[in-house]
Amino acid sequence: RWPTPGARDGRSRLVVLAGPTAVGKGTVAAHIKEHHPEILLSVSATTRSPRPGEVHGEHYFFVDDAEFDRLIADGDLLEYATVHNASRYGTPRGPIDRALAEGRTVLLEIDLQGARQVRAAEPSAMLVFLLPPSWDELVQRLVGRGTEDAEERARRLRTAKGELAAQEEFDYRVVNGDVATAAREVVELAEVPARPSS
Ligand code: 5GP
Repeated sequence: RWPTPGARDGRSRLVVLAGPTAVGKGTVAAHIKEHHPEILLSVSATTRSPRPGEVHGEHYFFVDDAEFDRLIADGDLLEYATVHNASRYGTPRGPIDRALAEGRTVLLEIDLQGARQVRAAEPSAMLVFLLPPSWDELVQRLVGRGTEDAEERARRLRTAKGELAAQEEFDYRVVNGDVATAAREVVELAEVPARPSS
């Protein structure tokens, strides 16, 4: 089979980085963004409120429910999901299409539901699952981050249990023990030719 549009010149240019809560997806993605400006890190739209230090258009596009509904209705989102039973998150399609057309690699840092939708929409997308070194390490990271209260932490850990089981659906697994190492592995995977499709 010929490469699908997402695969461009036979390489998988659309890379999805997913994994359980608090595994450090955001940190790894930020590291890649800093060291590989040639790769586009997609900026998601979300209905959640900004955390201190988060900048509109840089970390997220912070929108209200009506605006999020409009993005869906206009077909502007490649995927979207309600995450942790709370806020909605979605990937704007436009910047991704433009970057892929320019031959750039695009990195999405999204949740598992989103990763499945991208796989369905773009079968050639490369799905990378970020793993914690251990379950205890994951709990420690969530507690140490201190951005969630106890109830929200418990909810996210329940989600994480289910998410860990989903790693089998992914093309590759990367263990996030050290951020720079994990980031390098993800970038190297992006240079791997697209997986053969059947
Ligand atoms: P946070 O609120 O901590 O920034 O992100 C919560 C979760 O939402 C993370 O698991 C993150 O990967 C996920 N997320 C961020 N943007 C998107 C998106 O555009 N689509 C989906 N499906 N999940 C997203």
